[in-house]
Amino acid sequence: MRRGFIRVFRCPKCGRIIRTTAARCKYCAAVIDRAAAEAAADADDKIHAANYEASLITSLSAEDKAPDIHPWVFLFAAPYYIVRWWIRTRRYPQDHPELLISKRSIKRALRLWIPILIGFLIAMWSITRRFREP
Ligand SMILES: [Zn+2]
Repeated sequence: MRRGFIRVFRCPKCGRIIRTTAARCKYCAAVIDRAAAEAAADADDKIHAANYEASLITSLSAEDKAPDIHPWVFLFAAPYYIVRWWIRTRRYPQDHPELLISKRSIKRALRLWIPILIGFLIAMWSITRRFREP
């Protein structure tokens, strides 16, 4: 609970964004419980952090955004960040609309990761084959 900041959250009744200090929702007039509103705003902050992290994972793989990053860096870094993201978000409300955006980023990162993994395995296989065959 930071002082001096306007904090917002999603109205539990109508789903619109309102201030945590509001006594009633200005859209649907639902009575707002201050403690519940602050807790919801805290949950939103965590989800925003998770979204930011998920977008970092995806941008790590996007060659246009990160041309210096070798795909093999992504190969090893992505699982670490994806697992960390999953551990962090598994207790969050899974149907939160912003978490769904985050999930799409993670799925996109996985779709990019699998071909890189296959490429890596093929490269490893062809290298080791050279040693096996005289
Ligand atoms: Zn409302």
